[in-house]
Amino acid sequence: MKNNSPKHIALKTLIKHKHYLLNNYTDLRRIIESNQFTIIEYKKHANSEPVSELIKRLRIENETRQKDSFIYINNNLKFVFINADIPDEDKCSLLRHELGHICDPDLKNSNPQNSSIEREEFANEFSCYTKNPGISFKLYVLIMKKWKLLVSVLMLIVSILGLSFWINSLIIKPTKSVTTAASVYENFDNIFYVTTSGKKYHRKSCFIVKYKTNVTQYTLDEAVDAGYAPCMICNLE
Ligand SMILES: [Zn+2]
Ligand SMILES: [Zn+2]
Repeated sequence: MKNNSPKHIALKTLIKHKHYLLNNYTDLRRIIESNQFTIIEYKKHANSEPVSELIKRLRIENETRQKDSFIYINNNLKFVFINADIPDEDKCSLLRHELGHICDPDLKNSNPQNSSIEREEFANEFSCYTKNPGISFKLYVLIMKKWKLLVSVLMLIVSILGLSFWINSLIIKPTKSVTTAASVYENFDNIFYVTTSGKKYHRKSCFIVKYKTNVTQYTLDEAVDAGYAPCMICNLE
């Protein structure tokens, strides 16, 4: 079953025309015209000759006097009439309403010149939803409209990340060799020295053992097992 709720039709219309809301005259005019309707702006009094001719020919003098907007359909003639003398904001509200009638799936079965309360409600709800379709919908359309931009921003981020990884790998290489040197140094450093009368074990570089020839070498475990304590001067503690 088709979803013909005014909300659904309103959002579908917005998606089709890539708008996240309809709040300006130019957009509304474009969408109405893309539905093969011509917008005619009329005045309550003193219309230009072509407009008053048209009104006379279509026999809609009463409508133009009584209403601020209405649609006219007769075979291939499709018009949206709107009062030229009202503020733009009001024109937009009325055009949204008339667009609601135009997009109403029930339009074919109803008489637009004298439509039922249900069809009027449909057009009013359509107008509400196209004016304010909700934040999540706006976000959706924004993403839909700007996806190319979003994709290129993402690509840019990915390539910046890739580039920084590459640069990092270049920097890390020498660091690695330094690490290797350090571990070799550590291996040498794992040998400690104790003087013949000493109670402490020292690093090779410690001045206490440095210039002595009579020293014994131990590994750390051996030195600890033999009861020697770490030297405070060479920072073994
Ligand atoms: Zn209406
Ligand atoms: Zn020492």
